[in-house]
Amino acid sequence: MESVCKVTDFSLGFVQDKKVYPAVNHVDFEIHAGEMVALIGESGCGKSVTALSLIGLQPETAVLSGSMNFGGEELLALKEAQWQDYRGNRISMIFQEPMTALNPLIKVGKQVLENVMLHQKVTKEEGRQQVLGILRQVGLPDVEQIYQSYPHQLSGGQRQRIMIAMAFVNNPDLLIADEPTTALDVTIQAQIMDLIKKMNRERGTAVLLISHDLGVIRHLCSRVYIMYAGHIVESGEVEHVLGNPVHPYTRGLVASIPSSRKKGEALYSIPGVVPPLYQRKTEGCPFCNRCFAAGKLCERITPAAYVHEGRRIFCHLTPEEIAALSVRMKADQEENEGKSPKTGGVQECRKG
Ligand code: SF4
Repeated sequence: MESVCKVTDFSLGFVQDKKVYPAVNHVDFEIHAGEMVALIGESGCGKSVTALSLIGLQPETAVLSGSMNFGGEELLALKEAQWQDYRGNRISMIFQEPMTALNPLIKVGKQVLENVMLHQKVTKEEGRQQVLGILRQVGLPDVEQIYQSYPHQLSGGQRQRIMIAMAFVNNPDLLIADEPTTALDVTIQAQIMDLIKKMNRERGTAVLLISHDLGVIRHLCSRVYIMYAGHIVESGEVEHVLGNPVHPYTRGLVASIPSSRKKGEALYSIPGVVPPLYQRKTEGCPFCNRCFAAGKLCERITPAAYVHEGRRIFCHLTPEEIAALSVRMKADQEENEGKSPKTGGVQECRKG
């Protein structure tokens, strides 16, 4: 399959008081034409800032290195004026909260039309017809009336449909959807995700989906990248990675899904939290202080990624070694519940 976007050895750090705090470390990923790929991880793992860099909207204090190749063009080399040809045109983004992404003082039809007129050589009437067409395509009723509405006059689901219309109206090669249903009611979430999948299929647009919802990802995406503290720790086909996780972090995420627990079993939660940027160590495994399988080597030396049966794993241990140690997850869970003291599975760096 043709590659739409290839990210290689991408790193991003934030500068403060002349010091650089790494937030994304040597990340590689690729999205093919027409494919829907997921980027998963807890908040603070670097997903959104990586996605924002793909559209040139990273914070001003960020320093970037590596490569983001988009159809033969190097995105990291683009000047601000050059970004106008890409943003909202060849690369679009759907944000979490449509109410803050839409201008509250401008009618929604006009906002979508502005995006058309900015990037296409069409008359205003041709542009208006295009907008009405895409409003119908995203399932909005009475599109003439919706066109004339202000954002506050629409429901949350309708506003997100407007954002989807705006994102697809110029037929982008790549769409980034950053937790597009977080602000919506549960009943609307599935409809919005199905709509993004429908547009992806009908228009052949590659989609990078950032989401916490592993069920949705299993349903919609073909491949997945798991991100922890700025590193891709496991990647591969969705069914392999989420159906049979190998990396200790992926195992923890999958075990945290309510549907994964057996009847009567408590829900698993990965101990600890993602460390803030200023507390991250530059050596050793970034997951060391939360990992059930951590050993002394993990504390001192950053692992290298290896490929196992088509998936990429960032760990010192083999899949068999990790599986053998996974009984310690149960001990973690029991300790979390206060049922029993730690059983000795905790390694040195977990105590740090
Ligand atoms: Fe756990 Fe060590 Fe593997 Fe990191 S390298 S995930 S700490 S076992």
